[in-house]
Parts: sequence; C-alpha cells; structure tokens
Amino acid sequence: MASHDYDLFTIGAGSGGVRASRMAAGAGARVAVAEERYLGGTCVNVGCIPKKLLVHAAHFREEVEDAAGFGWSVAEPVFDWPALIANKDREIARLNGVYAGLLDGAGVTRIEGRARLVDAHTVEVGGSRITATNILLAPGGWPHLPDIPGIELAISSNEAFHLAGLPRRVIIVGGGYIAVEFAGIFHGMGADVVQLYRGPLFLRGFDDDVREALASEMRKKGIDLRFEARPSRIERAGDALRVELDDGGVLEADCVMYATGRRPLTADLGLEEAGVATDVYGAITVDAYSRTSVENIWAIGDVTDRIQLTPVAIHEAMCLVRTLFHDDPTVPDHADVASAVFSLPPIGTVGLTEAEARARLGDVDVYRSRFRPLKHTLSGRDEQTLMKLVVDRASDRVVGAHMVGPDAGEIIQGIAIAVKMRATKAQFDATVGIHPTAAEEFVTMREPVA
Ligand code: NDP
Repeated sequence: MASHDYDLFTIGAGSGGVRASRMAAGAGARVAVAEERYLGGTCVNVGCIPKKLLVHAAHFREEVEDAAGFGWSVAEPVFDWPALIANKDREIARLNGVYAGLLDGAGVTRIEGRARLVDAHTVEVGGSRITATNILLAPGGWPHLPDIPGIELAISSNEAFHLAGLPRRVIIVGGGYIAVEFAGIFHGMGADVVQLYRGPLFLRGFDDDVREALASEMRKKGIDLRFEARPSRIERAGDALRVELDDGGVLEADCVMYATGRRPLTADLGLEEAGVATDVYGAITVDAYSRTSVENIWAIGDVTDRIQLTPVAIHEAMCLVRTLFHDDPTVPDHADVASAVFSLPPIGTVGLTEAEARARLGDVDVYRSRFRPLKHTLSGRDEQTLMKLVVDRASDRVVGAHMVGPDAGEIIQGIAIAVKMRATKAQFDATVGIHPTAAEEFVTMREPVA
C-alpha cells in the first residue's frame, strides 16, 4: 500500500465523497479528496438544503392566510426575495465550513481543483500528479437541458437559487422532483407559474393516485399545469421571454426554468485513459459493491445509474468503506428507499406503487383514504390529504405506502421502517393510532378499495 501517496483518493466532495473520505480516514486510511467547485456538492449548495429553505419560505404565505380562521388578523404579507437569498447563502457558507471542518478533523487532505484520472492509480490536479491505491469517483451530476433554439435563455435549478429578484411570471419545464418543487416555491412566493410537462401526467414512476392528487392540489392553488406541452423555441421579447410550443401555442414569462433531469458529471474526468466504462447516458457502470470496470476504481452517488438521492449516496459510501477498510465486503441495499417530494403539498413514498405491486405480485389489496386535514376545518382551505397502503394479499405484507399532504416526508420516514421490516397489514392494524393526527390514518384504514 505504502508505494502510493494515498490509500484512497476521492474525486468530488459531495454527500457521498465526503462521507466515504471521512469514514475511510477514521478507519486509519491515508485519504485525499479533490473538489473543484463547492464542499458539500449538489445537496448542500444547489439542492436539498437550499431547496428546503425556499420551500419553507414559500409556505409562509398560506400559513398567514390560514391564520385568519384561527382568529389572527395579519397585515398583507410582503415578501423580500433578496433577504431570503442572502440568509440562505449565509447558511450555505456555514455548512461549507462545517464540511471543511469535518474533513480536516478526520485528517483528510483537501485539495481544491479539478481532478482527472491519468491511469488506474494516478490522478492529476492543478498540474501535480498524485497516486493512490484506490480511487473513488463521486463527481455527482449536473442539470441536463434539451437542445432547442433559445435554450441558453433558460435557467436550471442551479441558477434559480441565485436569481437577483423574484420573477413575476415563471415557466417551469419538466415533470419530476425538481420541477414540481420549484413550481410550488415560485408560486408560494407570489409568482404566476405555468408548468409544462411533455407526457399525459407528471411524476412518472410515482403511484398514479399520488400523481393525480398532487396535480389537483397544485391546480387548486392556482398553478397552471399543462400536460402534453412541449416547448419548441425560446426567444427574447423585450424584457420578457417568449416560449413557443410545438402545438403552436405561445407563452410569455420573465423566467423559464428547465428541470428536465440530471446527467452524470463525467466530462474530462479521464475515464477513457483509465479504462473506466460508462453507459449510454455517461453514468459510470458499477457492480453491486460500487466497483467500476477497473479493479481499484470505485464510484458512488449520482455519477452512477442507481438512485439519485443524498442518503443513498451516503449509504453507498458507508458500504464502500466497510468493503475497502474494514475487511467486510458490503453491498448497498437499494430496496424500499423512501423519498419525499417537497412540493406544496408534499409527497412521501416508500415501496411499490399500486401498478408495480399488481405487476409483480398479482393479487394486492389497496387501502386509500382522502380527507380534509383538521386544520383546514377552521382555515377554510380546500385541500385534501391522500394516504394509501398497498398490501400483498398472499403474505399480508405492506409493500407500499404513499401520501400527499402536510408533513408527508416526516410521516413516511416512520412508516418506511415498518415497510423495511416487512410489517404486515395486521401489524399496522394492531398499532394504536395517535389522535388527532393525520398519521393515525395509516393504522386505521380497515376496508380495502373495491
Ligand atoms: P427527474 O428525472 O425526476 O425528472 C425529469 C423530468 O423532466 C421528467 O418529468 C421527464 O419527463 C422530463 N424530461 C426529461 N427530458 C425532457 C425533455 N427533453 N423535454 C421535456 N421534458 C423532459 O429529474 P429532476 O431534474 O427533477 O431531478 C433529478 C433527480 O434528483 C431526481 O430524479 C431525484 O432523484 C433527485 N431529486 C430528489 C429530490 C428529493 O428527494 N426531494 C429533489 C430534487 C431532486 P419523463 O418523465 O417523460 O421522462
């Protein structure tokens, strides 16, 4: 081992790269990590954390409106976008410092700059060559925008976090996590939002009831959702932007944001030189242990074609460190990973959708509840919560749990433990609810949907 400069050299100090580097150093390995942009990667800088702060900001408008039914009179709220962005930036800078401290405290050598593979054991950063026994590729992903005329006038989520002011009219293109989250953010802050999705119903891959419930709630709030809508050209029109659709329709906005997926950030990483194989989308191909096509080179997180979520990258990192430095080969477990979409209202989901369960298991029972949250009996808001359980009839196992409504992410996190433990519907039924909560509905649904 000592013939190389380091035992582990990590490229990319995002969620996965930082965790793997710290834990490997903690296990006694000599570790260096190179980062060309910002410590903490997408999640800390232009993803989960600032997004959730913006979602909180967007939610206040409804909170203020809802307060009236509870006897509060509040003056017409005024929103200050630059103040929010400055406060958010201060918090992100603090977190960047926390990440630096964690790496330094663990004894990891931090290198600022773009790292590139030279061969299977050598990396080049800022003109110097460094050797390592093992190399970990964790460079993450980057927004991908389709190539239509005028696309350079559109922004991605990266820029949305740094706009100088709140745009009055926003067009969002896409129908995945980021698109629905930003539709809620901009709408909540007071912008007029049109969301365009190319298919018949957004959030492909989510449970159909969830997709329909969110579409209905977003429309009730006043978001202009348009499905089967495909922009074909973007042009400047004075201070505004003009978007042409392929059905001949034309829209105007002050900001056009694309959230049409993210691609692995592998350009100029030296993959070919080192012999690291990728798939057709450029994702690094790995085996169950996160090993690439080169024996001593590993890859985790969004650069691989697995699940693009921070906790998944961290889990992959922890497993890799066990494999490499604890003599305990460990395969990351990608089954039943829960997730939340921080739309307004949010989605929480774990396990199989109803359609997946029917296709895989055959006979399934579905339990579904739609209700108006207690809070809105006084606020007067017309909002429905949806909860749904999918149960394998043969084993009585709860194989999927889905929710659209306030705190869905918080609630589904607990339910996810039960699903992971292979809990049965009878065990859900044997659990006494907490009253009055929305969550109790998950243990009181008795009659399957006909
Ligand atoms: P997604 O893959 O979730 O969604 C991409 C969307 O863009 C889909 O609706 C897709 O449509 C559409 N699309 C793709 N290509 C085109 C195109 N050429 N023209 C028009 N529409 C197109 O990507 P996101 O960018 O929203 O997010 C990336 C990933 O980041 C997510 O998958 C998720 O894993 C992660 N993430 C997680 C969050 C969370 O946990 N809360 C929050 C944000 C991101 P179609 O379905 O038809 O292919």
